Amino acid sequence: MARVCLDYGHGGIDSGAVFNGRYEKDDNLALGLKVAEELRRHDVVVDETRTKDKIVSLKERSDFENKNTYDYFISLHRNASKADKAKGVETYIYNICRKNTKELAEKIQKALTDVGFLDRGVKTANFHVLRETKSPAVLIEVGFIDNPEDNLIFDNKKDEIAKGIAKAILNQLGIEYIEKIQKEDSHNILYRVIAGSFSQKENAEKQVNKLRELGIDAIIVESK
Ligand SMILES: [Zn+2]
Repeated sequence: MARVCLDYGHGGIDSGAVFNGRYEKDDNLALGLKVAEELRRHDVVVDETRTKDKIVSLKERSDFENKNTYDYFISLHRNASKADKAKGVETYIYNICRKNTKELAEKIQKALTDVGFLDRGVKTANFHVLRETKSPAVLIEVGFIDNPEDNLIFDNKKDEIAKGIAKAILNQLGIEYIEKIQKEDSHNILYRVIAGSFSQKENAEKQVNKLRELGIDAIIVESK
């Protein structure tokens, strides 16, 4: 069975990047929980380094991952760069030699640029969670938290972003993505049988009597 470790950046007193009262830690968690849900829907075993707004050190994150064997470790973050008003999405890997990571990172980039983010490409970085994890690891910077355009995409298309990331991971795992079935709410629907409409009440009563003789329960409902 496929196993994935999801890592939602920052948390608790470590808010990550901040912009106009918006905290990176909250965006990472909200999006991550949706990705986890999508993966679990496809029977992927998902472990998470945090599921609440709490501080988790980088070492705790890699220690958590090291305890198990995973197909992939995926860390979610949001970027910040007030200086050059940057925008777009970039995915980091430790180095291009690590098994499968470049492939997965490219699939994630493609999925997120399809949603509408600018493509900043796959990059390498000496990040703790990429270096100290055993499984192939990627870190996604899902747009810039200090760029209103990126935030608009993030807020309005959160489900699509989560779906895109999940789809890329599933594809990499060789699992086919199954669209969510929208269940119709059939509990509140009543199907009424009409056996005639009459302008004279006595004609309606005759019809009701006829139906009753046939053993069919019938009532008269007035309507204008
Ligand atoms: Zn971050």
